[in-house]
Amino acid sequence: MDHFSLNSGVLHAEDVPLPQIAEEVGTPVYVYSRATLERHARVFTEGLAEVPDKLIAFAVKSNPNLAVLKVLQKAGFGADVVSGGELRRALAAGMAPAKIVFSGVGKTRAELMLGLDEGIGQFNIESREEGRELAELAAARGELAPACLRINPDVDAKTHEKISTGKAENKFGIPLVHAREVFAELVQLDGLHLRGIAVHIGSQLGDLEPLETAFGKVGKLVADLREAGHLITHVDLGGGLGVPYKAGEEFPSPADYGAMVARVTRDWRVHLTFEPGRVIAGNAGILLTRVIRVKRGGNGPPFVIVDAAMNDLARPALYGAWHDFDAVEPSGEHMTANIVGPICETGDTFARDRKCDALQSGDLAVFRTAGAYGATMASSYNSRGFVAEVLVDGDQFAVVADRIDAGAIMDAERVPEWLA
Ligand SMILES: *Cc1c(COP(=O)(O)O)cnc(C)c1O
Repeated sequence: MDHFSLNSGVLHAEDVPLPQIAEEVGTPVYVYSRATLERHARVFTEGLAEVPDKLIAFAVKSNPNLAVLKVLQKAGFGADVVSGGELRRALAAGMAPAKIVFSGVGKTRAELMLGLDEGIGQFNIESREEGRELAELAAARGELAPACLRINPDVDAKTHEKISTGKAENKFGIPLVHAREVFAELVQLDGLHLRGIAVHIGSQLGDLEPLETAFGKVGKLVADLREAGHLITHVDLGGGLGVPYKAGEEFPSPADYGAMVARVTRDWRVHLTFEPGRVIAGNAGILLTRVIRVKRGGNGPPFVIVDAAMNDLARPALYGAWHDFDAVEPSGEHMTANIVGPICETGDTFARDRKCDALQSGDLAVFRTAGAYGATMASSYNSRGFVAEVLVDGDQFAVVADRIDAGAIMDAERVPEWLA
């Protein structure tokens, strides 16, 4: 459920009519709903009510906007970060260092040091080599880095190949067959407090079964490690729960997910960490855009050319992803169209042969479910700059990220003297 709905024939974000935001901030613009973010945070937390000892760490990469992070910080969430930049954002949003988990297969030495400097709660180690390096850095400071070992359970998450992370051929985690041996080596290093296991098999999962299979393997590993004499107090179950991108699509709810987790982990006696991203932020945002013109006369349906493009919302070009596309002031008429942006690539296509509200030049429209992996994946391709972001709260709204125009980006470039 979200808070983007029609009110007197005009699409609103909570109590703010979207034309007002377009007027004041321009388009394209991402619009987030505070009430929706808070609702999703609450529903996810309630879904895990049966899990007593836990941390919910929002996956910052899904939406790193500081205002969004602040909403989630106030909801009691921590942060799952995958770079030094994200770590700084989580801190800037007021997340307690103890509630920050550092994931990622390629943390640099400088990033590991930053995590130690800030005293973060957990490093998820993805290789023997990374574990040794972290241990050495921490030992040199006379510290113990709290850590979990991320394993690769070789489970097919049945999602898009580019966001699948738990298959043997993916770059993430330690293959399960080597996990005991790597754990045994790393746990004895000065500088590491290796205390558990982490897993994350992919994103936009529409089925709980692969998650349950992966968690089952983790449970077995935890039992094996304990039998070998290791103290296991923490398990990180990652994120991955999917969201409906098409109206009417059914997905497992956070309550279903929570019930499965409670059942599978009942006897584990560990502190559990969760890293949801998309399920919290996805439906809490839309991308508001204006139709530049409608081009007719080709072979197929007309092209509705909007002022948003693949640089602003990459998911359709990157994953062939679907985003519902609706007029802000629907007339009740419909059309079948190809929805495209202005970028000089055929990949800059949001939808083909899409039945949608009838639109003409100057009309406003939205791509729904753009709150996760939207603005965060933007580029400045075609020298288009970065779009603004707005957070709505009831009848008020604020620009929470300025539009960065192409000129500002050009200002960071220079022609060397010897070339001028
Ligand atoms: C991307 C990612 C997440 C979040 O995934 P969602 O599908 O957005 O919930 C969580 N943990 C790790 C390690 C990730 O890489």
